[in-house]
Amino acid sequence: MRLVLLGAPGSGKGTQAQRLRDQKGIPQVSSGDLLRDAVARGTDLGKRAKAAMDAGELVSDEIVLGLIRERLGRPDVAKGFILDGFPRNVAQAGALDRLLTEIGQPIDTVVLMDVDAKALVQRLTGRRTCPKCGKVFNVYSSPSTRGDRCDNHPDAEAPLLVQRADDKEDVIENRLKVYASQTSPLIEHYTARGLLKIVNADQAVEKVFATFVRAAGG
Ligand code: AMP
Repeated sequence: MRLVLLGAPGSGKGTQAQRLRDQKGIPQVSSGDLLRDAVARGTDLGKRAKAAMDAGELVSDEIVLGLIRERLGRPDVAKGFILDGFPRNVAQAGALDRLLTEIGQPIDTVVLMDVDAKALVQRLTGRRTCPKCGKVFNVYSSPSTRGDRCDNHPDAEAPLLVQRADDKEDVIENRLKVYASQTSPLIEHYTARGLLKIVNADQAVEKVFATFVRAAGG
């Protein structure tokens, strides 16, 4: 299973990718997570990426491609992968095609998580993440069973959930604009290649997952 997940910020790509990863044992490759990790570790690359991320702009293709190339070179990817948040523009899609041809692992399916644009701001402002394991929650639609702490750890070690710095309203607005102008053309791009499947992501997480698994062919 070699998948690309497309969808606006807040459409649930990360949540669904984590579920599929846990069910199928296939790695989730999230460009956003790779970038946040580089920023947190204070690497050169992280320092170069930070300003764009804080502003809700895209980080340069060169930086993101370097991270993705390195990640897709690791052995666990032989089982397949779920690309989450990459590619984000047509140039990245072209570079991905070339890279996957090089390693003999072309994409099987591209899944679009389709949501009503009006719901996105609330979905993004409600998002919380575990700083330790990365599990994603939403205070409105899928809260942690432990309130403001992650329910994926034993009680005594459960960390407080955090809100991403770019999930604040002013940055959200820009991220949605960037999606509309730079990322949404990929819908046409992958439709033309016969790869696109559309999932109605305006449903309960479980229902979306069931549809997603069928769309992904598994
Ligand atoms: P995400 O976690 O996918 O919402 O990504 C968070 C931020 O990381 C985005 O707003 C961008 O600044 C940056 N980012 C993530 N993926 C990419 C990508 N494929 N290309 C450029 N920037 C990206």
